[in-house]
Amino acid sequence: MVDDIQQVKVGGVMASLIPKEIEQVTGIKPIESVLDKPYMLDKDINLIVDDLPLDYSILHEIDYEYPIQNAYITFMSKGCSRKCKFCAVPKIEPNHKGFVSTIDKFNHITRLYGEQKDLLLMDNNALASKKDFSKIITEIKQMGFISNSTYTDSNQLRIAIRNLRLGINNKAYIRYSYKLIHILGKKTKGKTHERYYKNLEKYELLHLETTTKINLISVYPKIAKTYEKIRFKRPKLRFIDFNQGIDCRYINEENMKLLSEIPIRPLRIAFDYITLKKQYINAVTLAAKYGIKELSNYILFNFIDKPDELYKRLEINNNLSKELNIHIYSFPMKYLPLFGEDAKHRNYIGKHWNKKFIRAIQSILNVTKGIVAPSCCNEKGNFFKKAFGNDLSEFNKLLYMPETYIIYRKLFEELGYTQQWQTSFRKLTEEELKIILPIIETGDFKNYEEQIQSPSLKKLMIHYTISRDIVKKAKIKGSTQTQLKQIIDNS
Ligand code: SF4
Repeated sequence: MVDDIQQVKVGGVMASLIPKEIEQVTGIKPIESVLDKPYMLDKDINLIVDDLPLDYSILHEIDYEYPIQNAYITFMSKGCSRKCKFCAVPKIEPNHKGFVSTIDKFNHITRLYGEQKDLLLMDNNALASKKDFSKIITEIKQMGFISNSTYTDSNQLRIAIRNLRLGINNKAYIRYSYKLIHILGKKTKGKTHERYYKNLEKYELLHLETTTKINLISVYPKIAKTYEKIRFKRPKLRFIDFNQGIDCRYINEENMKLLSEIPIRPLRIAFDYITLKKQYINAVTLAAKYGIKELSNYILFNFIDKPDELYKRLEINNNLSKELNIHIYSFPMKYLPLFGEDAKHRNYIGKHWNKKFIRAIQSILNVTKGIVAPSCCNEKGNFFKKAFGNDLSEFNKLLYMPETYIIYRKLFEELGYTQQWQTSFRKLTEEELKIILPIIETGDFKNYEEQIQSPSLKKLMIHYTISRDIVKKAKIKGSTQTQLKQIIDNS
């Protein structure tokens, strides 16, 4: 597609973090950091790319529907005042800007693509803006996002046809108009249905392959009234999401009050280290005091933390949810290095972690799709305690539990294997633990027989060799529990 490799531009997160490696492999010198000055991308174009609003039209060029496409996606501050060692922000956005006025971008998006329901702010650390934070809130309110504010869908077909007339991204708006008229067509009834589809037939709009811009523009006046009458118009609540999280160290009465004046949901607060416990609890308690009931929480692990500290942070969230009658959804996030050799693979193991522990956490999260929900939201009881154990001692045993038993917890409990494993594991003597724990911690159970002499330890290790594939295959075949037991016993 290009005459010269140098015409290929490489930028973004990875390019900013490991530019030398990219240049070595591709011969292309990546553009590091953000495009926040004119002429950075193209010597003839005096545009600051970082200031441009998003081009929403490209979302309609493809079949995939982004879950958050009905939102203003932007930022109102840049960079961060801190330099956390695990974070890419200090390298990618090294200069902190406390306030980036966004109202013009907001108006531009509304004019060109119609009003959006939600506001998704990608600010790295909005509260680092300190005094400027009130400017952010004021502008958010000017955009129409105040507590309990509602939104009614814009007439997207009118916008799509107008954009076709203006010649904006024909490919996207032909596809989008086609999609909209057919979604609405299914809602029409009786004579209206007949008339509607006669028009589509007349203008050859029954199939995407025959749909043309000119025919879409021509049919629009004939179906516009029906479209406007039937389209979805019920008001919905609007929400704001500071998607990268809020820094609990900066939270105080003043900024929490400001946050409570806008429809924030969820309020995301990072809890990266257990040493932030006091500030974190204070932040959550203030949120509850100001009526913010839905919180979400990033929990970093596999960095310099110990596994116990992951449990303790999740337990704090579980307890706070109950005590303050709020919902805190936790997202444990595994640390991976950003630079050097370890940034090139996904197998990094933190100082206090090992392969088995990481896999145990991932197995638990696998079941919950990465979320640890508050116990008060789970009708079946205390989800957190069931998933992570009633206390630290149970949690530590769980870390050593065979992966397949964690993933298919209920099944292996019913089969009785979990109890067998537990009984054998509990009986281990100090000496046996010294032999077996390092083997389990490697997470590699192929050659354990060469390393263990004792028959009882060998018997215990068999539990670790039951693979998820056996269960998956048995489930696909529709095997009963008894048949599955037989398959496992024979394998
Ligand atoms: S406070 Fe957040 S954004 Fe700032 S450097 Fe630390 S992790 Fe990154």
